[in-house]
Amino acid sequence: MTAAVAARMSLEGHLRRAIERQEFVLHFQPKSDLRSGQVTGVEALLRWQRPGHGLVAPDRFVSVLEDTGMILPVGAWVIRAACQQLSAWDRLGLPPIRLAVNLSARQFRHQFLASLIEDTLLENAIEPDRLEIELTESLLMEDNETTRAMFEHFRRIGVRVAIDDFGTGHSSLSYIKRFNVDSLKIDRSFVQSLPDNDEDVAIAAAVIALGRSMRMCVVAEGVETVAQAELLLELGCDEMQCYLLSRPMAGTEFVAW
Ligand code: C2E
Ligand code: CA
Ligand code: CA
Repeated sequence: MTAAVAARMSLEGHLRRAIERQEFVLHFQPKSDLRSGQVTGVEALLRWQRPGHGLVAPDRFVSVLEDTGMILPVGAWVIRAACQQLSAWDRLGLPPIRLAVNLSARQFRHQFLASLIEDTLLENAIEPDRLEIELTESLLMEDNETTRAMFEHFRRIGVRVAIDDFGTGHSSLSYIKRFNVDSLKIDRSFVQSLPDNDEDVAIAAAVIALGRSMRMCVVAEGVETVAQAELLLELGCDEMQCYLLSRPMAGTEFVAW
């Protein structure tokens, strides 16, 4: 336990310095329309360029950022840097794709989030409906004043809202209806064992039917084989974001891709 606590404190210290030294970078993973194959957008994914450690994946440090509140400055940077990148792509003449960013509960509850998003969109001349905020189910389960107020802000600004990792938390049909969600992202764990696992086929079919009947865009995550993509297309899924299409990549690589 002592060793674990010491390791965690050391990581915390390194992360504080990482903010000062601007060691965070964004990678972007494309999403495509399953029917047409057209690229519809990208999701910005955080990476830590840690000296001596290479590129560190978010699973290794995002929870520490969340617990310590460092996710507020880092999350604000993610929103700004991702929007700047989108605007740079626009200036290069790339098609007007959408941009998705992940939000932690802690950021979601923060009073300046809405104005941060609004200002950043304006500064970068990005139409609000090109930005999609990805939220997890647990965050939406807290149906309180703050959640409702934040959704009203989002509606007013005109940004889109997606439910991330759908099916892994307490999936509740009532919040989907109440909060007017634009997209559902089916979690990778349900896609992995397609097309052979009958139960997972049934779950995927049900989620896709639910999303479509509520006029949401259904996105499958973690598609790794052509057989999976074909089945999802057959079931009526709209988009995919996965290694089959591309791994996340640096902004400059994305242009070439
Ligand atoms: P997520 O939002 O569910 O992001 C998708 C993750 O799945 C990414 O991992 C991506 O690389 C991975 N992935 C995509 N396609 C495939 C596939 O076909 N197969 C497999 N096995 N994996 C695939 P990544 O980049 O390591 O991110 C992990 C998580 O870290 C994200 O999961 C998200 O919850 C969190 N995260 C990333 N960036 C941010 C951020 O800026 N803010 C916050 N709060 N969380 C972030
Ligand atoms: Ca996400
Ligand atoms: Ca996800």
